[in-house]
Amino acid sequence: MAEPIRYRVDLTDRLHHLVRVALTVPGDLCDGARVVLPVWTPGSYVVRDYVHHVQWITATDGDGDEVALEPDGRTAWRLPTGTVGPVTVTLELYANQLTVRTNHVDDHHALLIPAATFPYVEDGTDRPHVVHLPPHPAEHRVWSLLPPGPEPDTHVADHRDHLVDSAFEVGDLPAVGFEVAGVPHEFVWAAHGGAPDLQAIAADTTRIADAAIALFGDGLPVTRYTFLTVGWDQGGGGLEHRDGAVLQVPVHSFQDDDLTARFQSLVAHEYLHLWNVKRLVPAALTTPDYEHPTHTPSLWVAEGWTAYYDELLPVRAGVWSLRRHLDTLRDGWQRLQGLPGARLQSLRQASQEAWVKHYVRDENTANAMTDYYGHGALVAWELDLRLRAQQPEGDGLDAVLRALWRAHAGRPEGYTEDDVLAAIAAAGGDDLARLADERVSRPQLPELGEVVGAVGLRWVRDGAPEAPDLGVQVAEDDQGIRLAAVLRDRPAWRGGVTGGDRLVAIDGRTVGRGQLPAVLRAHQPGDTVEVAVTRGPRLLSLPVTLGVPRQGVRLVPVGGPTAAQRTAYQRWTGQTLEEV
Ligand SMILES: [Zn+2]
Repeated sequence: MAEPIRYRVDLTDRLHHLVRVALTVPGDLCDGARVVLPVWTPGSYVVRDYVHHVQWITATDGDGDEVALEPDGRTAWRLPTGTVGPVTVTLELYANQLTVRTNHVDDHHALLIPAATFPYVEDGTDRPHVVHLPPHPAEHRVWSLLPPGPEPDTHVADHRDHLVDSAFEVGDLPAVGFEVAGVPHEFVWAAHGGAPDLQAIAADTTRIADAAIALFGDGLPVTRYTFLTVGWDQGGGGLEHRDGAVLQVPVHSFQDDDLTARFQSLVAHEYLHLWNVKRLVPAALTTPDYEHPTHTPSLWVAEGWTAYYDELLPVRAGVWSLRRHLDTLRDGWQRLQGLPGARLQSLRQASQEAWVKHYVRDENTANAMTDYYGHGALVAWELDLRLRAQQPEGDGLDAVLRALWRAHAGRPEGYTEDDVLAAIAAAGGDDLARLADERVSRPQLPELGEVVGAVGLRWVRDGAPEAPDLGVQVAEDDQGIRLAAVLRDRPAWRGGVTGGDRLVAIDGRTVGRGQLPAVLRAHQPGDTVEVAVTRGPRLLSLPVTLGVPRQGVRLVPVGGPTAAQRTAYQRWTGQTLEEV
């Protein structure tokens, strides 16, 4: 048996956001050993250069004498050739960035993201990795996504990738345990305040998890699962791991119905990743290169389809109303229709370019790229609707996902784009596979007009038209209105306004925070207004001809649905059409 790679984590200086990690390189690996700290973490496709947070790094031999440790590239080090081990490499990390992909350590809690924390030994990645993490102070508890080891306070990964896939949380934190399909689950709340109703969270999560198990159909492929949840003032997100997930939500999520619904959708999303991504893996991501970007064309399936089901499962689970679901689909559709970048970048490109575009945003983002989450979800919806139109009694896209799961889950080579298209063809025919290929290989939107009739729905106008169109996205702050984006070929763009300009006045009257919609509503489409903006130090006045207002829409049941439509709707949502 090869000696495992061992780590010891020291949290005694957590008050100052400092973590010390001691890595013991086994004797047989020490000769010229290369030690690497990843630059990114799976699930978040951008180079984060975690090495930025290394305060110092040293190496010592068994006698405590220092061993030279030479930098080798920007995120790796080498022991000298001929080094006799074992050698302990110790580093100190600064950990004060609270996101699901970065370390955050303070007196309250310690969230450790393994990619940002544990340097690996390049020639020892297949060996077990043992983490010794004693809580500090002693009365705090450690939650690990890894199984416990035989010694106290240890946690054992099968190999390097398993360790990278298993976050840690430490603290004196509220938590609730529950079972799903006989498998122990735990939800840990690491935010300050928020007063989450842990029993309600356990109950809702159980129902969502049951809906996910029913979707894939082969039981639950884990023996334990843990949600580590941090909170902040606003914003959120999640990061999937092999046997759990890290979630971030606004702290007051449970005092607000819409935020609670978003939390439920986030739970569904990360839980679905337990199948889609973690075990049904795009080919490129089966062998991640932790020193460089690992590109895949398949995030429209990995994230887009997951995003589609993260809004559908809460309905099937009965924790979302049908109305919320249909309005959320509508919102996504209207958002995509107003996104110029969706007509410039295909979904496959968006996936390939995630590393340089999705996570790197500026005032041109809306014009330059589409969103493989929201756009991918709507392509999934179109495919689902077309499949249900063909076979109202069938399982729609569920059957495609299940077929992919059965054919490719756990396989070392993962799945390819061809595998996905073949599964679509098997469920819905070659024409549907061709349509799917076109939807993701070209910068085009799905067609979601008539096709909603497959499940007994139709689009209707909703409310009065909005204000005349200016074609901007605004970000309001204490100074007023910043144009976060000026949408390509829309009125402000044509008038010469550019992203990043600050809006000062329209027709000589200042426009303050919250006032823009009312100012626009006082005009008619076709009116030309003088838009005053500041651009850096300059003050500009630009004539802009306002466009036709956008008309809101809503999904409603058709009058007198056919039996096929009722059936298809029921198979789709698990609810009846009359309940909408
Ligand atoms: Zn995701």
